[in-house]
Amino acid sequence: MIVRDSDYLKLELTKLFAENGEGLAFLQQVTLDGLWYWDLDQPDNRWMSPKCWAALGYGLDEADHLSEEWQAHVFPEDLELSAANLEQHRADPLCPYDQVLRCKHRNGSTVWIHSHGVAIRDEQGHATRMLGLHHNITHIKQLEQRHKKNLHIIDELYASTKVALEEAEALFTSSPDAKLQVDQDGFIVRGNPEAVHLFGYSEAELLDMNIDLLVPEAYREAHAKGRSSIQLDPRARAMTGASRVIQACTKSRQTIQIEIRLNSLQTRYGSHVVATIRDVTEYNLMVTSLQQTRAENKCLTIDATTDPLTGLYNRRYFKKQANKEFANSWRYNNELSLILFDIDNFKQFNDLYGHVVGDQVLQQIGHSATDIIRNGDTLARFGGEEFVVLLPMTGLHAAQALAERIRQDISDLRVAVADRPLLGVTISAGISARESQDKNVQKVIERADAAMYQAKALGRNRIVVSEPDAQSNSGLG
Ligand code: GH3
Ligand code: MG
Ligand code: MG
Repeated sequence: MIVRDSDYLKLELTKLFAENGEGLAFLQQVTLDGLWYWDLDQPDNRWMSPKCWAALGYGLDEADHLSEEWQAHVFPEDLELSAANLEQHRADPLCPYDQVLRCKHRNGSTVWIHSHGVAIRDEQGHATRMLGLHHNITHIKQLEQRHKKNLHIIDELYASTKVALEEAEALFTSSPDAKLQVDQDGFIVRGNPEAVHLFGYSEAELLDMNIDLLVPEAYREAHAKGRSSIQLDPRARAMTGASRVIQACTKSRQTIQIEIRLNSLQTRYGSHVVATIRDVTEYNLMVTSLQQTRAENKCLTIDATTDPLTGLYNRRYFKKQANKEFANSWRYNNELSLILFDIDNFKQFNDLYGHVVGDQVLQQIGHSATDIIRNGDTLARFGGEEFVVLLPMTGLHAAQALAERIRQDISDLRVAVADRPLLGVTISAGISARESQDKNVQKVIERADAAMYQAKALGRNRIVVSEPDAQSNSGLG
């Protein structure tokens, strides 16, 4: 060993400690959290400075300088660790006696003590004493734990943010609609595969483009202006105008009809707009064609059921309706009546005033009778100048009253013809009702027809009721 000049200081210090208690008192003061001295030959005896106990919340007179008293406060696992370390250090001075012990504070909380020491050995190298220091690192450990917890929270946040970002990206990329993200100047900054497919530009081409270029030239300027106002007022909206159709143009200059929905997206680079675009060209064509078909079908239905001159139902429709009402009246045992009327001497009228005037008469009769009949009654032009009214849930008596009104109203009609006095016509009507023996509505029509011819024979401009004969007078069947 090299003996230096300063070694005299070491010797002096040793002497000072040996002879003067002040040295030890000073050491106790400066060792922050405790000093201890342990008799390894009698290991029950361990002197501990007041600070060792103060760290656990005990006063000087509350603790005995016994190992077991101290050890009772140390967590058992940590005690085992320190015992193992002690064994190693006793055997080999190069193995440090150095560990963190968790101890129970008087108030129940955990105190972390960094305990390290060094063995004092006899001339044979046997450890007879241990001298050690305690450093209360509870505060550091608590910070460490908080830090770990924060790190864990940050880890979780990172993981969930990553998942959310991946989901958002997947929504954008795999959307069945075309999606374009556009910056404040209208430049496309992101486009999904569907947008590439719809507009025919590659992704790289789209990323170089201003969105206005996807608008047909005629609307481009207006679109650029509208775009600025959307940037000033960013909120989700559909971009469909009054026509409900917006046009876009593809790379191959083809015009397509689209539906667009806009959403604003706040990014690090400012407010962007995400446009969700759907090609509705084929859908619109289909809708237009369906509308046309529906309109055509409506016309066909009108053609098939309506008399073009008077606008009344035609004979075909009437027959269908009459069969239906006949079946109903039979099933529910309801009354059913029918009025058949024919213009008197109409051939002569036509001959005198012409067909055009005759047609006007037919139309006026149609209007007049329509005003009189009730909901549920069916009025139709049955033939040339012959009309028919079907009256469900109506008996002969009520039918006769209704027919009388029709006859009266028609006889009051007047048609204006140039240079001539106003012209009028009369009708003759036959009335019948369903009878129990009737198998179909044709029988009812036939009886009304017979009654009408009777009215003609009796001098016209009158009504004849086909009364039920004696056999069938017993009522409805
Ligand atoms: P009656 O009192 O016996 O019924 O005599 P009528 O002359 O009315 O009978 P007729 O059956 O001999 O003649 C029916 C006439 O109705 C013949 C035709 O000129 C006329 N007529 C039928 N359809 C139309 C039509 O659509 N327009 C016009 N203007 N006349 C029609
Ligand atoms: Mg006639
Ligand atoms: Mg006739």
